Amino acid sequence: MGKNSYDCIIIGAGPGGLQAAIHLARYNCRVILFDQGGGRTRHALHIENYLGLEVISGKELVDTGIRQIKSFGADFRREQVVSLRVENGFMVSTKNGQYQAPYVIVSAGAVENPPKIKGMNRFFSRTVFTCVDCDGYRTTGRKLVIIGDSLDAMRLAFAMRQMFTPDITLVLPAGLLPDDHAELLAEDAIAFKAGMPQEFLGEAALTGVKLADGQEVACEVVMLSYGYTLNDSCLAGLALKREGNGAKLATDHACETSVKNLFALGALKTGKAQAIIAAGQGAMVGIEINHRLLEL
Ligand SMILES: Cc1cc2nc3c(=O)[nH]c(=O)nc-3n(C[C@H](O)[C@H](O)[C@H](O)COP(=O)(O)OP(=O)(O)OC[C@H]3O[C@@H](n4cnc5c(N)ncnc54)[C@H](O)[C@@H]3O)c2cc1C
Repeated sequence: MGKNSYDCIIIGAGPGGLQAAIHLARYNCRVILFDQGGGRTRHALHIENYLGLEVISGKELVDTGIRQIKSFGADFRREQVVSLRVENGFMVSTKNGQYQAPYVIVSAGAVENPPKIKGMNRFFSRTVFTCVDCDGYRTTGRKLVIIGDSLDAMRLAFAMRQMFTPDITLVLPAGLLPDDHAELLAEDAIAFKAGMPQEFLGEAALTGVKLADGQEVACEVVMLSYGYTLNDSCLAGLALKREGNGAKLATDHACETSVKNLFALGALKTGKAQAIIAAGQGAMVGIEINHRLLEL
């Protein structure tokens, strides 16, 4: 096997890619994992829905995973993959070189598209959240503002009211909410403000959201309902089948994409984006690739 030839190349050090690397490296496969840094999991300050870990930050989870894969002999590179093409298996290019393998796992995740609101960095992932499955629980019994750019935010408000808190104000851009929808919100005692959020108020703790027209909406926690962008630019050269509104990658039950031997995990593919789900997918794909390598 040449210097830049591997059994499997993994793109992205989220829980999915790291778990796949752990499994493959522990079969003594030649594995290399590229990660450009940053990433959604790293932004999570408190993961408390991962079995066996009462609470862990995403950074600690990922950093521990990177140490773990290295300890089993996987190569780790802090590099961005710029392209991937089908050639002699797969040819993966970074700025520094080209790497070949018969199997590739893409676990490059997605990035949130939060609106520009002053003070975002101070509160993001502390008391300003983006994911119900991740952080909805942390809003329990608290004064909540939901901010969105589509009527999905209204559906979220009804769901949050059932699960977590009766004290909700929904903030949407003016003109977005039809009159009859406003009545539905009123029936559930969900307050509504039309406006554009401009600033999160408070120093140590969040105390409210200031809107562009100067109104201040008091709150302790915020849930944002905006979209995300897939980290899929390196896949641009491949005609991959997509599905769903977010144009996520279509995969089969084994997380294999429409291109044979190219697997996708985590937020890139259809399904729920949770750390433990991505890790489970990673374990499954690692085992599957090893079976194929062994031709079992
Ligand atoms: C604020 C916040 C809180 C969250 N809380 C929780 C929680 O409590 N529980 C939970 O289960 N989940 C939580 N999540 C979601 C969770 O972190 C991820 O969705 C999940 O772990 C799946 O991640 P992933 O493996 O798909 O991608 P990621 O964790 O985003 O990892 C992808 C990695 O790939 C890298 N990458 C991207 N493109 C390239 C490229 N071209 N070349 C090289 N590297 C590349 C990225 O930089 C990143 O490091 C939270 C997310 C956020 C944003």
